[in-house]
Order: sequence, then structure tokens, then C-alpha cells
Amino acid sequence: MIAATPAQDPAQARPRLRLATVWLAGCSGCHMSFLDLDEFLFELAAAVDIVYSPVASDTKIYPEQVDVCLVEGAVANVDNLQLALTLRQRTALVISFGDCAISANVPGLRNLCSAPGRDSARTVLERGYLELADASGQLPFAPGIVPELLPKVLPLHEVIPVDLYLPGCPPSAERIRAAIAPLLVGQRPRIEGSSMLRFG
Ligand code: SF4
Repeated sequence: MIAATPAQDPAQARPRLRLATVWLAGCSGCHMSFLDLDEFLFELAAAVDIVYSPVASDTKIYPEQVDVCLVEGAVANVDNLQLALTLRQRTALVISFGDCAISANVPGLRNLCSAPGRDSARTVLERGYLELADASGQLPFAPGIVPELLPKVLPLHEVIPVDLYLPGCPPSAERIRAAIAPLLVGQRPRIEGSSMLRFG
């Protein structure tokens, strides 16, 4: 867990942080910004175990007892929803990572497209696969393979409780570092001030 450990040698006594990063409905730009941490990634590697991440492991099952999870992207389909619910159950500190997770942002533009009597999912699917298709157009239907769209794209906090918000599109590497570095020494980051809170 994140609580500081009283010990003679904190570096040796503190257990390694179990860190996850998750990619829901986003462009991966927030994860690219995470990789821009450059040399701080070496510090991170010395202090954490990355137990689940699209950029660092091939693990398919979200693990138990995760200390911190950075969640990129909005909740747009049933797979996003299931993963969000699972990670909340198994994670001590969930960070809404980037503007899409916080506000739905770009994927949330779909919400503006609902036509009378049809939700936004139905509207965009019919537009893309039927109205603009040739005569053989059909709606995608592959249960278990193509996840069904939710009627509306949701920010993460409308689906699960979120502990911290890290805005930006994407959050800069400096901002990510400022959020993560305190966690490595058992402190809760202070996400405040214009340098940490600006959207976009
Ligand atoms: S917040 Fe910006 S960079 Fe991050 S996933 Fe959304 S569009 Fe991409």
C-alpha cells in the first residue's frame, strides 16, 4: 500500500509499489507521455513493479492487490466498463489519467451525435455501417470479439470512484512525474495549482 513505512532505511524497507496503467477509450497519447518520463523511468523501475500495462507487459488479466493505477481514456464500451469495475476492486489508488478519463473529451464527442429516438452508439453505427455503406452494409455484431458500445461515452468517475485526477491532453511528462514521485516515498501527490490542473 502507499502508506509510508517507518524504518531505518526507507529505501530498503519500503515494499515495491505495484503499479498498473490501463488504456480504455483513448488515443494512447497519455501513455506516450508516460514514456516521455525518460530517465525517471529508471528510478521508477527501481521502485515499482509494473504489474499490468499495455506498454510494459502482456498480462491479460488485471491482477489483485495493485497499489496505483493510471487509467487513460473514457468508458465507451462494455469491455472498458468491465475493466474499470475490476480495476477499482483490485486497486488502492485509482488516478484518472488525462482529459479523456476525466471528462470523456475526444471520445465523448460521440455523445453529441444522438439522433431522435436513437442513442449515440446506434446513431454513429448506423451512419458508418448502413447509411454510408454500399448495398451490403451491416451493423457489426460479434459478441465476445467486438465489444458492444455503451449508449453514451462516460468519464471514469461516472463509473467508479476515482482517487486523483491528472488532467492534460496528454498530461506532460513533468506533470506525470510530479504525480508519481511522491507515491514512491509513501506520500499522496498534491494535484493543485495551474501547472498541475490545466486541461488540454
Ligand atoms: S487525453 Fe488526449 S492524449 Fe490522452 S487519450 Fe485523450 S486524446 Fe489522447
